[in-house]
Amino acid sequence: MTTLQLESAGFTKNDLAKYPFLKQTAEYIKPLDLQIDNLASMGTDQILKRAEERVNKAITDIRVPKSLKNLDDEITSFPLALLVVIATENSFIKKRYALAEAKQASSDLTIESKERILKIAGDFDWKIKLSAKEDGDLPLEFTIKFTDYLRNAAHLHDKKWKLTNSILSRGNIYLNKKDVVRLLEEEIRRRIEKRLEAKLAKYPPELAEIAERVKKLAAETIGQTENEALPKVVVQAAFPPCINALYEAASTSHHLSHIGRFTLTSFLINIGMSPENVNELFKSFSDYNERLTLYQIEHIAGERGSGTRYIPPQCSVLQTHGVCKNSDDLCRGIYHPLAYYKRKQRLA
Ligand code: SF4
Repeated sequence: MTTLQLESAGFTKNDLAKYPFLKQTAEYIKPLDLQIDNLASMGTDQILKRAEERVNKAITDIRVPKSLKNLDDEITSFPLALLVVIATENSFIKKRYALAEAKQASSDLTIESKERILKIAGDFDWKIKLSAKEDGDLPLEFTIKFTDYLRNAAHLHDKKWKLTNSILSRGNIYLNKKDVVRLLEEEIRRRIEKRLEAKLAKYPPELAEIAERVKKLAAETIGQTENEALPKVVVQAAFPPCINALYEAASTSHHLSHIGRFTLTSFLINIGMSPENVNELFKSFSDYNERLTLYQIEHIAGERGSGTRYIPPQCSVLQTHGVCKNSDDLCRGIYHPLAYYKRKQRLA
């Protein structure tokens, strides 16, 4: 596809460099005829370096800042970055990369014109329009087909995305630019995740080497997040939604499942609450037995038995047992309730 053909499709090279997940990108790089098992001899060193940088940034910063000095290299580095991520065969890296590219696109889209946003949404076959003049009383600039809305809002947990809280008219939802961009972020993330499901029969050595380095970085990054010291003061405002739900259930219904009790206790102990204070929380339970409860809490805190302090189960386990409740935007890309707690405090 030539630059002229690209422009007639409504995009520029700059657009493809910023939004390389667009369908047009594949057309644009077709003439390069990238051969996966022959990357080194194709003079792709520079592009492979940029591809690795993309994936590294995604892992460490959950963003992929653009480098727009050489647009062709920037555009081509995206499919190569996808190949690197696929070659890692690591689901954390795959999810993280899709999320980081989507988040980067979302922050770039917020400063785009409404017309450019319509164009990008069109690449996902959205039925989207600018609101008509007669809808002028509404401060909402876009209308989108409610099926496009539902497909993406279904992944968002804030109450504002519930269909009952939206302005719906004749099968269309009225939205402002910020919300359209947020829904597009979901669409972009899922498109990239889908592409990362591909399997490669064999990897050329250059790709395998990069994939190994990327896996090492990911392991170090996850380790760092888990080992970062927890703040000394208990901050209830930073509790993840699952812990809030357990805390509320403990305070109001005075009953929790076994895994619920273990999760809440180990969470509170690990963020610095004393066993005596955790014990207070369980005093109103009908099956409360002071000696036994305190023993169990101290055991989880590592003050009895083997001396091991237990941590709460990770999110995937809590999801399986129905303990993950009301998960919110921050939960995306989070694998453990303690990681949520640390990140929320850092953001605050
Ligand atoms: S995703 Fe994890 S942190 Fe968030 S509510 Fe579910 S279990 Fe808790």
